[in-house]
Amino acid sequence: MHVWKFGGTSVGKPERMQSIRTLITEDNTRKIVVLSALSGSTNTLLAIGEALKANDDGEANAKIDSLKAHYDGFIGELYNTPEGKAAGQQIIDNEFSFIRSLTRVKPFTLKQEKELVAEGELLSTQMFHAYLVEEGVPSTLLPALEFMRIDADNEPEIQYTQEKLAEMLPQHDDKQIVVTQGFICRNPRGEVDNLKRGGSDYTASLIGGAIRADEIQIWTDIDGMHNNDPRIVKNTFPVRELTFDEAAELAYFGAKILHPSTITPARMFGVPVRLKNTMDPSAPGTLIADRTSDQVFKAIAAKDGITALYIHSTRMLNAYGFLRRIFEIFEKYKTPVDMLATSEVSVSVTVDNIDRIKEISDELSTFCSLEEPDYDQTIICIVGNFSADNEGVAVRVFNAMKNIPIRMISYGGTESNLSLLVHSRYKAEALNALNEGLFSV
Ligand code: ADP
Ligand code: ASP
Ligand code: MG
Repeated sequence: MHVWKFGGTSVGKPERMQSIRTLITEDNTRKIVVLSALSGSTNTLLAIGEALKANDDGEANAKIDSLKAHYDGFIGELYNTPEGKAAGQQIIDNEFSFIRSLTRVKPFTLKQEKELVAEGELLSTQMFHAYLVEEGVPSTLLPALEFMRIDADNEPEIQYTQEKLAEMLPQHDDKQIVVTQGFICRNPRGEVDNLKRGGSDYTASLIGGAIRADEIQIWTDIDGMHNNDPRIVKNTFPVRELTFDEAAELAYFGAKILHPSTITPARMFGVPVRLKNTMDPSAPGTLIADRTSDQVFKAIAAKDGITALYIHSTRMLNAYGFLRRIFEIFEKYKTPVDMLATSEVSVSVTVDNIDRIKEISDELSTFCSLEEPDYDQTIICIVGNFSADNEGVAVRVFNAMKNIPIRMISYGGTESNLSLLVHSRYKAEALNALNEGLFSV
């Protein structure tokens, strides 16, 4: 069985939804089809939530009216028969009457906000499933809220998904296509929740791992993982093959094409992930699997919003236990550390979550001296085949970066990553300089 995920732009227009129907039924492979919300819908739903939080009901209702008008127009073009159009209209009327009911809940809290934002995926999947029914495709709609759950630390419970799907899927053995929602899940309180922005990729990989799929395909608006951020750098090109480790680093360190955690479940269960272009289905895309190629530099990604901390030991020359004490504090406040550089008497670390930075700094100050944190930093992650006997890797990176100030360097943590920390004002310059220095022939 395959799991195919289609992102917002891939379902964002009626003709795109129609072309997806053709794509998923071209061969006889049984598929779970995971859909995002129509492009722009999640942002609009969040904006409606902001207006409601600010008690601006007029603004919220105006936004709901125009969103509904968009959906009304969409179904007018999606369905071909009066029955199809009536089914589509029923779905939209039901969901928008629920959305309206949320505007009357006072105060409007995080719980309602999560119910509101889930509507994007609930709408797109029902509309698409009704279209498959109209077209006579044997299909079913499986509610993600019945098999996707996160724990108290917001981590997906893949074991639960595995057990639930093992119960639910055999009931639909006669259906070639099983449609479900990306992004949404329940939390330990049973409330509607989600896997954070871009989370539909993660849903696809969690399902793919849970059912040990033959393949997970992520369909989007570009021909696979490019070697650099195409929004910032010209002349990027698709990378045809990546290992799980390489792809996981790129996703975690900012390649927007994949949610940061997407690769984890696929790697855990050895399920290959293929990135494909809905606008150009015959393009080869990128295959992410358990294999390596000899190419030294493969791709670059960048993650913004990073904070760096200098932590000086007050009396630590030759002392042991210093790092343990530091990391225990980050662990206590559930704050992951991304990059690390050490010297004999001090350590520099980066974090992307500064919610608990005050408590962390206060506790560190009991045995270290700290400087004011460096905010607005960017991690530039260079991925490739950097095994220890591969000479000349660092020199090429530093040559490319020769005119750009570097705050931290991390190399040798894995054989596939070299990371640099720069102030975010140098990000675009650094990505372009590295593209020129590492990839131009
Ligand atoms: P979807 O809505 O299908 O999930 P996204 O917008 O989340 O699509 O992801 C696709 C976008 O990711 C591309 O249009 C591209 O602008 C951006 N992107 C950023 N870095 C990369 C990269 N290294 N390779 C390909 N796309 C990238
Ligand atoms: N619709 C959600 C978002 O925009 C999830 C996704 O598209 O993957 O973040
Ligand atoms: Mg996405």
